[in-house]
Formats: sequence, structure tokens, C-alpha cells
Amino acid sequence: MTDLKLFNSLTRSLETFEPVHPGEARVYSCGPTVYNYQHIGNMRAYVFADTLGRVLQWKGYKLTHVINITDVGHLTSDADEGEDKMERMAAREGKSAWDIAKFYQQDFERDLARLNVQSKQHPRATEYVEAMIAWGERIAEKHCYELDSGLYFDVSTVDDYGRLARAVTDEGEGRIDTVEGKRNAADFAIWRKTPAGETRQMEWDSPWGRGAPGWHLECSVMGEALLGFPFDIHTGGIDHREIHHPNEIAQNQAWCCTNGLDDARNSGAKIWMHNNFLVERSGKMSKSAGEFLRLQLLVDKGYHPLAYRLMCLQAHYRSELEFSWEGLEAALTRLKRMVMAVERLGEGDIGDADHPKFAPMRDKFAAAVSDDLNTAVALVALEEALAVKKVDGAVKRGVIADMDAVLGLDLLSVSRADLRIRPASAAIEESEIEDALARRKAARAEKDFATSDAIRDELAAKGVEVMDGDPLGWEWKLA
Ligand code: AMP
Ligand code: ZN
Repeated sequence: MTDLKLFNSLTRSLETFEPVHPGEARVYSCGPTVYNYQHIGNMRAYVFADTLGRVLQWKGYKLTHVINITDVGHLTSDADEGEDKMERMAAREGKSAWDIAKFYQQDFERDLARLNVQSKQHPRATEYVEAMIAWGERIAEKHCYELDSGLYFDVSTVDDYGRLARAVTDEGEGRIDTVEGKRNAADFAIWRKTPAGETRQMEWDSPWGRGAPGWHLECSVMGEALLGFPFDIHTGGIDHREIHHPNEIAQNQAWCCTNGLDDARNSGAKIWMHNNFLVERSGKMSKSAGEFLRLQLLVDKGYHPLAYRLMCLQAHYRSELEFSWEGLEAALTRLKRMVMAVERLGEGDIGDADHPKFAPMRDKFAAAVSDDLNTAVALVALEEALAVKKVDGAVKRGVIADMDAVLGLDLLSVSRADLRIRPASAAIEESEIEDALARRKAARAEKDFATSDAIRDELAAKGVEVMDGDPLGWEWKLA
């Protein structure tokens, strides 16, 4: 089998995946801060991590994939400044921080399911506060110092701080003046004391006073507790390569009692992978800008969530991907074509994929996904397989099922009708359209073209365009 090559941000090079535990793959992905809905950019990070997990499974590894839930401690800026995101939203919405977290976690998990992300392991930071305090106690003496505002990590106490970011300047990422008494600009909070006279909704007692953990700590603690050091792969968006992950690595080095990053154990994970951003020119992705781009908005406009998954897979995860509605429309059309080609095979068994006619496509597919998850080329291989003529349906279904296990597009179960989502703003129910179309079909069968035309006009008056002879087999669309 082709070796799996993955780009390790730590070494900035492609490395062959060699599991820490034979036959297993353990992956940790930084999860969302659940103070608001996730935008589709955030969801790109999980489509990427899920695709990585699927490739590992496809290669035969038993996968454990953790996506944590940040429900405490994340300030409005990653560099240790501002207010706590959860507490601020709770105050704004007049709800408890716990309720806010629960609501947005559920919404996040719904989006994961709609995008076919398989991971079901989503531990919450608040469940690990005790373990975070224990971690702090273990590293405090050698690596931390206390200020009025809390316990801080001194980044000069570990070797190679910031190697992952490759861009730490003397000024670091934070500004030294933001917290009085910080020794180095990049020092960050392990524990944040609740200021005297104030109370937080989420606070705990600790050796450093009542307060809450710093954001970076949770991922070190949960990664170690759930996957053990070193685990195989740590993922996150490219922004995390700059502050959050260097800080996680520093904590892991401190915890392991040794320094250098050449031993994978010290950095916590062997491979650190980062997806590039989904960008949108008009700035609608920002959560602060009122209506922002989230998966539900796409669905409300009539786009199936898997069209967005396909849009992500069309780009390499390390490239920036520009979002546009035209791009999403094109992805939906491509998905429809694939689904139609599968539907043409009819129902039936899923046969053995190992058939000589498909060998070139299967080789191309395997080489592509093994080359740092080149899903764009893998999709082409799948389409080439779909186009193969004069083969047994069961065999072709077998080939498609095998490839779709990696791509996660539900090609064998989604129907064209599923892909045609009625926009939320449409003034007509889908059942009404289907009913009118059935009556029209019956009229045409009886050559009653007057009735057929009348029904077409009736639908047109309600904004529905009947599409006779549409090459994609789409019978109608909203005009
Ligand atoms: P956050 O809730 O801000 O911690 O973000 C959750 C995940 O989404 C992290 O892995 C981020 O790096 C990632 N992320 C944030 N914005 C984008 C974006 N526009 N495109 C891709 N990934 C993103
Ligand atoms: Zn994290």
C-alpha cells in the first residue's frame, strides 16, 4: 500500500505517517468556542480533520478522533487579551454561560452531522478543570510565575518556544503591557484569577485563587488524558499555528519534564497539521457582523450541506479557499451529476471493488489521498470511475462505496430529491410542487397538453419553473 505522506507544520515538510501505536491512529482537533454559532470557515477545519480521519481509517488504522469543546476560558483575542467570550455572550443574551455553551454545542454537533463528520468524541473543557489544576501544579514551580491576575507560563523556560510558528519576534504575539508584570510578551495565563470584588459564572478554587483556566491549557490536558503523549496528529486552523499551538507545545514540554522538540513526546503530538482559511471578500464570516455565513444559511438558501463539503474537498486543505455562492452552486451541480450517475446504476448489491477495469482509477485515488490528502485529484478519480462503461453495477457500486468512505459525500444513499432543498423563503411547499408535477405527468401521458400547460402556468405563477428535459434530471427549480 502507498505510504501516507502528511505535511507536518513542525518540520514544514512532508512526513510518512508511522503510528505511535501499531494499527491505531489518534487524532486531536481543536474544537470550537461555543459562545456563538460556527461559521462555515470553522466547519472547514472539521471537514479537513474528518477527511484526515477517514483516510487513516481507509488505510486500515483504528481511529480515535477527539474534537474538544471550549466552554470556558477563551478570551476575545487569542493572545491573552480582552474578555472571556463565554461570559460576555452570557451577559449579552441574559442567559447563563452554561446554557449558552449547551445551546451552541448542540448546534455545532448538528452541523458536524450534516457535513458527515464522524467524530462523536467531544469532551468539554469544564469537565477537565480538576485535571487542568493538577497540570498547573506539576509545572508551576519550574515554568510559571504568579501575578495578581493569575498564574503565567514563562515561555523562556522551554527550548525552542515558538518553533511551530517560525515567526516569533522579540515582541512575541502578545503585548507585554497588556498584563502588568509579564516577563515575556508571549507569556500566557495558565490560570486567571477572578478580580477581587467580582464573580464569574464559571469559576473554580485553585492554589492560585478562585478563577478559571487559561484557554491554551485545556487542549494539552484533554489531549494527554484522552490520547496519551505522544499521540499521532494534532489539527487546527492555520491561525492556531501562531499562538495557541506553540503555547500548547510549551505546556507539553513543561509537563514532560524535558525540553527539546526533537522527541515527539515533548511536543505532545508527532504531527501538527493546519488547514488554511476559508475566506470571503465581503466579511460575512465574522461572527460580529450580524448575519454571518453559517451552514444553516446555506441550507436556507437551498444548498445541501454536502455541497459545502464537496466545495471544501475540491481545494487542497493547505490552500486558501474563497467562498462564493457561484462556487457553491457549481459544487452542488457537480454533486448532482455524481448522484445521478450513481442512481443510473440502479439499486442492488455492493460488489467487490477489486476489478481490473477500475484499477487505474483506484490507483490514482490511492496515490492522491496518500499525497497529503489531495482530495481534488481523488474526486477526479471518482468521476472517472463513474464514467466507466459496460461494467456490472455491483462492481461499480463497490468502487464508489470504497472511495466515498474517504470523501464522505453519501453518494450511495443521497438521492437527487434530497439534494433539491426548498429555500426557506419559497412561497410554496415541496409537496404541492410534487403533486402538481404528478398531475402534469398524467395529463401529458394522455396527450392532454392543455391541462399540462395550465399546470405549468399555475406553477410559474408561484415562482416554480418546470424544467422539461433538464440534463441533470432536475424537474423543477424556483425561478
Ligand atoms: P475557534 O472557535 O475560533 O477556536 O475556531 C474553531 C476552528 O476553526 C479552529 O481550528 C480555527 O483555526 C478554525 N477557523 C477559524 N476561522 C476559520 C476560517 N475562516 N477558515 C478555516 N478555519 C477557520
Ligand atoms: Zn486547542
